[in-house]
Amino acid sequence: MKDSNFLKEKNARSLWHPMAHPADSLANPPTIVTGAEGVSIIDVDGHKVVDGVGGLWNVNLGFSCQPIKDAIAAQLEQLPYYSTFRGTTNDAVIELSEELREFFEPDGLTRAFYTSGGSDSVETALRLARQYHKVKGEPARTKYLSLKKGYHGTHFGGASVNGNANFRTAYEPLMAGCFHIPAPYPYRNPFNETDPEKLAQLCLQALEDEIAFQGAGTIAAFIMEPILGAGGVIPPHKSFMPGVRDICTRNGILLIADEVITAFGRTGSWSGSRHWGVKPDFMCTAKAITNGYFPFGAVMIADDVVQVFEGDKTGKAAIGHGYTYSGHPVGAAAALACLAETKRLKVNENAAARGAELFSGLQALQDKYEMIGDVRGGHGLMCALELVSDRASKAPIGKGPIGTLQEVTYQNGAMVRVSGPNVILSPPLVLTSADVQTILTALDAG
Ligand code: PLP
Repeated sequence: MKDSNFLKEKNARSLWHPMAHPADSLANPPTIVTGAEGVSIIDVDGHKVVDGVGGLWNVNLGFSCQPIKDAIAAQLEQLPYYSTFRGTTNDAVIELSEELREFFEPDGLTRAFYTSGGSDSVETALRLARQYHKVKGEPARTKYLSLKKGYHGTHFGGASVNGNANFRTAYEPLMAGCFHIPAPYPYRNPFNETDPEKLAQLCLQALEDEIAFQGAGTIAAFIMEPILGAGGVIPPHKSFMPGVRDICTRNGILLIADEVITAFGRTGSWSGSRHWGVKPDFMCTAKAITNGYFPFGAVMIADDVVQVFEGDKTGKAAIGHGYTYSGHPVGAAAALACLAETKRLKVNENAAARGAELFSGLQALQDKYEMIGDVRGGHGLMCALELVSDRASKAPIGKGPIGTLQEVTYQNGAMVRVSGPNVILSPPLVLTSADVQTILTALDAG
């Protein structure tokens, strides 16, 4: 067994972690994960726990998916890298594109543009949205609208449409021309409206008002997560996303569905947009596209957008955007194997069934513990507990108590993620009922 204290020391002196204070690594050392099996992770001290986080919302098929591992190994032997910039392509990415086109056909998406992850996918969609309007002859459409509480990654474009100050303040000034509307978040909202359906209508009205204020002809796109993820798992009322779609269509605004978390089954449907019966103009995917085994993403593009780009005779549609790793053959091979397993195992169905069990177990915990102010879920395997120090005033819980809860839950058999006052659960979609119970029992002990 490795010496965990020495490793923690080396970790603190040699690297900075995303989303953490650099000085924190010594005072509050991270768990050193050295192995994984099925839906569990194993730390440097040999402690094995169910991963209630699913890596980072991405390891949908668990850590032992042999077909993906084999596909990666075989592709490394056949062709470890070649670019897909103009002039070259590879057979793995061609096969993957055909598969994705079929998979997302019900969402009306017929082309893929490849990226190295979620932030790249968001950046790509934001850029292509502006270009679309330029190609169409509406160059004044440059602004973006998004939801407060939304998370769209960390590049400057994505950070500019992010709706949470934690990911913005240190990096201001961000991109001009980005405006946010209230999220349909019944537990806390500026309208003091607790009824989800009425709240959805108020938020839709706020969107209409913002469009009227900015001028529809200045707005390129509205970007949203079908279910807010990192912002605390906030599912909107079922009328919300169709309402957004309708408003966007009426105003010539493109709808970008940021499905970096929700695509490939997490909500119980194959995409979050499909879950709400909506066809977006762009869909950002990443994470579960390779089960987290290779950094990869794809922006799927709707056929009406495709027609505008491919029908261009002026040259304006030439794409001046892309990544060295766009269409990476190893990522493509991983994604091909991952998609085949995702479909074969029908993980969306298991996500819906296990998600319902997890959600009702969390609701039972709320009856038991005053500190659980809100329980959210009910749409596949994405759930959250929002913790408060006082239920009546809804004062958020402090860092200390929620950190202790996370630690005790871990000692009792489950890794959960803490983000602000929220305990977030996004386990692998191949979870069993017994694993759900392990998570609930560990939380109960916490
Ligand atoms: N968009 C959403 C909805 C996300 O949840 C995330 C990451 O969690 C991103 C974008 C950014 O993805 P990445 O961290 O792969 O860049």
